[in-house]
Amino acid sequence: MPSLLASGIEPPALVVVTGANGFIAQHCVAVLLREGYRVIGTVRNQAKAAAVKKTHKGHTGLEVVVIEDITNAQSYLDVLGHLSPAAVLHLAAPFHYKATDFEREMMIPAVQGSTAILEAAAQIKSIRRVVQTNSFASIYDASAGLSPEKTYSARDWSPLTYEDGVKADNAPAAYRASKAAAEKAAWKFMEDRAVGFDLVSLCPGMVFGPFLPEAKPATIAGVNTSNQLVWASLSAGRDAPVPPTRGPVWVDVRDVAEAHVKALQVVEAGGSRFLLANGVYCNQELCDVSRRVLPKYGDRIPVGEPGKRDSHTHFGVSTTETERVLGVQWRSLEESLKDVVPQLFEIERGEA
Ligand code: NDP
Repeated sequence: MPSLLASGIEPPALVVVTGANGFIAQHCVAVLLREGYRVIGTVRNQAKAAAVKKTHKGHTGLEVVVIEDITNAQSYLDVLGHLSPAAVLHLAAPFHYKATDFEREMMIPAVQGSTAILEAAAQIKSIRRVVQTNSFASIYDASAGLSPEKTYSARDWSPLTYEDGVKADNAPAAYRASKAAAEKAAWKFMEDRAVGFDLVSLCPGMVFGPFLPEAKPATIAGVNTSNQLVWASLSAGRDAPVPPTRGPVWVDVRDVAEAHVKALQVVEAGGSRFLLANGVYCNQELCDVSRRVLPKYGDRIPVGEPGKRDSHTHFGVSTTETERVLGVQWRSLEESLKDVVPQLFEIERGEA
């Protein structure tokens, strides 16, 4: 599906960011404001609107609006219709492993949320591009097993369906299905409908990295799901076992945010999907790197089996096309952990 844009979406265009209080979205908003875009963030309630304004205080180009129901196109039209935005970054979707009613809590908000924003964009004639935050989960085929010979790229598709999500055995499987079904629904919408905008799909691996200073959660329980995985690996204690790695592909949040903004600017990106990943990792690597660069926390970070790596036991990833089209470069694990791990320990200290 080719791009519809004659030129990229450049500052000072007005960009809608859904779920603006989220971990990745806070960085997207920061990059957009820094580059001179005007931003409308959407959140679920007034308290979250106030928090987003505080996170980006001092920036005049930011408005935050409340959209309670992300599955209802009309709710977007009512609030955004008259503001003439040029583009949307759609990040709002559940990412947690706490759901018990998978259809209500995961599948409906992810899948109907994905098509509702497209339906609204179809009716807001100023919108020229929608960038959706999908996932490596919509690329990865868990049924193929560890497949050490396989290199996943944005050309691969998860076979998971809506029904797989509803009937999933566990919450992580339901989450993976929610991302796969949401992305498939978005591309189907684009095929079925003649619209005046194009779609870019970004598929990040596990996203690690720091919070903006004003958006640091008050409690460890309030930390987003992917950084919870870092915390679980690095806080168990020196002699504790290193927990098994879940989703062994990672990327730094700041690179993800920059990729979102590039996805607005690069004409050629329209109609394509991109894998966002530095590469594969395992929890032993998180521990080894953190023990080396953050010796101060050595009594909390498991020693495990230093140097042991899982990467040869499973698939790899290729992001050549992402680098070529979006021009993104990937921060190192050292940089990512150096910036987030002290924040996580500070959050824990604040709880004491
Ligand atoms: P966060 O949990 O930090 O943010 C999620 C955002 O979505 C929040 O604004 C949240 O609002 C909103 N949201 C969640 N459920 C609903 C719902 N039912 N109705 C309305 N809004 C909702 O997650 P991330 O920043 O990590 O993730 C952002 C996006 O990136 C998601 O689409 C996620 O699937 C995707 N992604 C994330 C990865 C990661 O490792 N972090 C990896 C790959 C993809 P509220 O605060 O009100 O709940």
